[in-house]
Amino acid sequence: MDVSKSEPSKNGAVQRACGGCGEVITERYLLKVLDMFWHEDCLKCSSCNCRLVEAGPSLFIKSNLILCKKDYLKLFGHTGHCAACNKTIPAFEMVMRARTNVYHLECFACQQCNYRFCIGDKFFLCENKILCESDYEERLVFANMAVHPPSTATLAHIKRQVIHLQPQVMKLDASEF
Ligand SMILES: [Zn+2]
Ligand SMILES: [Zn+2]
Ligand SMILES: [Zn+2]
Ligand SMILES: [Zn+2]
Repeated sequence: MDVSKSEPSKNGAVQRACGGCGEVITERYLLKVLDMFWHEDCLKCSSCNCRLVEAGPSLFIKSNLILCKKDYLKLFGHTGHCAACNKTIPAFEMVMRARTNVYHLECFACQQCNYRFCIGDKFFLCENKILCESDYEERLVFANMAVHPPSTATLAHIKRQVIHLQPQVMKLDASEF
């Protein structure tokens, strides 16, 4: 009389096909990755074929590839050296970029006065050092004064040169590796 007792479908169990082998998954636990369900044995790294169940949380997805951490780092991770403190920057960490240089967020400050830049601030790269606008201008004036002793005549000349020497102004922007 009681028919519903042994019917799994009536318990709300839906049969799922595995995203790897296409077979129906009968195991109690389903792995859901990329909106698909997987057998534990079928969830493998697209690159080295290692089983990713053991990898647990360190499973990475990039443009429909499922990758173990090692392969993800190999393919997409970038580690670099901070141009200010020379220490390595781990992959996935937020960095600041200035031209080809990368910096730790906490290292990105004027290397003369330690001013911390805000998004949108102007900064200058001078001899590979980050400078705020006022330190940069100061440096330029001093550089010119060393060559031309100051007088009313050369000051006008310096002013023109400052404008001429102005490098491309870079906008501060946070980016992620
Ligand atoms: Zn499978
Ligand atoms: Zn792998
Ligand atoms: Zn640094
Ligand atoms: Zn400064």
